[in-house]
Amino acid sequence: MSAPNKSYDPVEVESLKPEEVDKARDAALAAFAAAADLDALHEAKVAHTGDRSPLALANREIGALPPHAKADAGKRVGQARGRVNQALAARREELEAERDARVLVEETVDVTLPWDRAPRGARHPLTTIGDRIADVFVAMGYEVADGPEVEAEWYNFDALNIAPDHPARTMQDTFFVQAADGTPDSGVVLRTHTSPVQIRTMLTRTPPIYVICPGRVYRTDELDATHTPVFAQVEGLAIDKGLTMAHLRGTLDHFASSMFGEGIVTRMRPSYFPFTEPSAEVDLQCFVCRGASVGDPDNPCRTCKSEGWIEWGGCGMVNPRVLVACGIDPEVYSGFAFGMGLERTLMFRHNVEDMRDMVEGDVRFTLPFGMEI
Ligand SMILES: [Zn+2]
Repeated sequence: MSAPNKSYDPVEVESLKPEEVDKARDAALAAFAAAADLDALHEAKVAHTGDRSPLALANREIGALPPHAKADAGKRVGQARGRVNQALAARREELEAERDARVLVEETVDVTLPWDRAPRGARHPLTTIGDRIADVFVAMGYEVADGPEVEAEWYNFDALNIAPDHPARTMQDTFFVQAADGTPDSGVVLRTHTSPVQIRTMLTRTPPIYVICPGRVYRTDELDATHTPVFAQVEGLAIDKGLTMAHLRGTLDHFASSMFGEGIVTRMRPSYFPFTEPSAEVDLQCFVCRGASVGDPDNPCRTCKSEGWIEWGGCGMVNPRVLVACGIDPEVYSGFAFGMGLERTLMFRHNVEDMRDMVEGDVRFTLPFGMEI
């Protein structure tokens, strides 16, 4: 508000002079025309129609004029403000239309693009392959058995004929669970193989027994490309009257052809496990080169390293001492058992080169395996 108007003459109030009002009006019109977008227009609106704008300040001066001068000044300022508001509305309409047209172009939705962009997730391939193996054996009349991963030493070692001085019991291979009172020797371990499930099965069922046990096991290995401290095994056990190594061989042949294709050849190599007698390692004939790469340096095979055979797992006839520990009469019953690493099986089937991919939980690894159930 300016100083009180002593002369009551409107022309003496600077801001109400016709040329000043015209100037303020023209400045507003020019600013609106120059506003390139709605934000700029908003700024121009505040500057030229807001409380501190020249026309608003001039308008306030009118109140201090004598009555005869009010009409003339009011008309002049009113017309100017009307013209300004009109120009503002017109420019806003133009800019809004421009914005709408631009949005229609820039935010166009291509309705021909594939609609199903959300990833569907996938099961971990180890789970899938465990289920697939279980299916192969369920079709042969086996049952799927399960057991705890934190296991009593007796189930994990003693009952399997692994004596207290056996190297597998030392700290190098086994995770020992510390007792609640801090005693390191609690008699509880993270199971080092799925074999304790066999013991639990033999203790709770009466023969004939046909079970398959897929599950996680633990060893104190460092995590690298070919080792992991937690891995998955599948183990099979059959106890019946008159079972021989021939039944074991036939079962493994069927298992191998179900996993790697018809006509795959297996072989057994003598080996030693405390819980089977006799024991054997099972090899698969390389399912990629079928042995053709052996002695042929021109056509090397990455899968078997041109050896023609791939180590697959261990097997054997159940040691009579294990049967006795589980209350089964070895004079009446015999049985066979076998075990394979699922990671190894998966590496063969899908050319997975680094075991760490299987335990790190990156969905980019599991997704290509899909949702096979
Ligand atoms: Zn090969």
